[in-house]
Amino acid sequence: MKTTGYAAQSPRDALARFDFERRPLRADDVAMEVLYCGVCHSDLHQARNDWGFSQYPIVPGHEIVGRVIAVGEAVQRYAIGDHVAVGCMVDSCRDCDQCRKGLEQLCRKGNVQTYNGRDRFTCEPTFGGYSKHLVVSEAFTLRVPDGLDLSKAAPLLCAGITTYSPLRTWGVGPGSRVGVIGLGGLGHMAVKLAAAMGADVTVMSRTPEKEADARALGADRLLVSSDPEAMAKAADSFDVIIDTVPVRHDINPYLPLLDVDGTLVIVGQLGPLDEPSTLPLLLGRRRIAGSPIGGIAETQEMLNFCAKTGVLPDVEMIRIDEINQAFERLERADVRYRFVIDMASLPAPQGTAA
Ligand SMILES: [Zn+2]
Ligand SMILES: [Zn+2]
Repeated sequence: MKTTGYAAQSPRDALARFDFERRPLRADDVAMEVLYCGVCHSDLHQARNDWGFSQYPIVPGHEIVGRVIAVGEAVQRYAIGDHVAVGCMVDSCRDCDQCRKGLEQLCRKGNVQTYNGRDRFTCEPTFGGYSKHLVVSEAFTLRVPDGLDLSKAAPLLCAGITTYSPLRTWGVGPGSRVGVIGLGGLGHMAVKLAAAMGADVTVMSRTPEKEADARALGADRLLVSSDPEAMAKAADSFDVIIDTVPVRHDINPYLPLLDVDGTLVIVGQLGPLDEPSTLPLLLGRRRIAGSPIGGIAETQEMLNFCAKTGVLPDVEMIRIDEINQAFERLERADVRYRFVIDMASLPAPQGTAA
């Protein structure tokens, strides 16, 4: 299938139009027209090879909402016209203990990333959602529930599940005391989701300036982490802290805030942190954990939860030809809180019907 998208041809190149082919449908494949694609911080990192494993050309995008335009002969769950979604992975071995438990994100053989991955059968590079069409196995395709605003749902597929999964894993529910560090794409979803689960939510920020924003998103309060008195008063008062900061930082000020058996979950930074002291860990039986996205079943559960509770990201809609400016603004954290690309702004390739 002929299609088109936006790709970076090298770490130094801006994203530009790139025509390519999607694979012919396998028996279990769903073909979709991409309607919306969220812009994740990792898109920027991978386009610029910040993590050192990018292959070029690279077509980013793993927060994808679309409409089914064709299905393979063995597809059972989806029909032409259905609204569907795809997140950060498009395949896994489907056979290991983790895959069998529905934890495909933890597949022993590694899951296949939606872009900058390799197809498990052909070893061809995977291209993401900054494109007109996508072909994905139905096993890695999610259903967008009726009632979920299609134009806002895309960021749920990465930012949403990345914060929903640890909240569920560590048992957050009514009355849980949840802290959120960082109020970007991930952080703002953590606040909304934790509040919708009935938790008491505190945003932690270096300055008091974000208090009104935090409350508008559903937080109960803002804790100013540069205020030693306020931090001392907040000791032992959290069950879970979701740390969404996407760069190297110091977690030591936050560890004493956890109650006994409390957990600080890192979902933002991929790489080193400033050296943590084990003192608060041992003395309070506290934990530092990490968590990557979520499995397919849990991602569907999250979409259904958001449809039921009305949780949606705050998005800023852009055209595909604004993507390079959007990357620059993302670098300055100048977005509230997620860019979404309206894929109608990307013309279909010559000789195809969109
Ligand atoms: Zn992402
Ligand atoms: Zn597996």
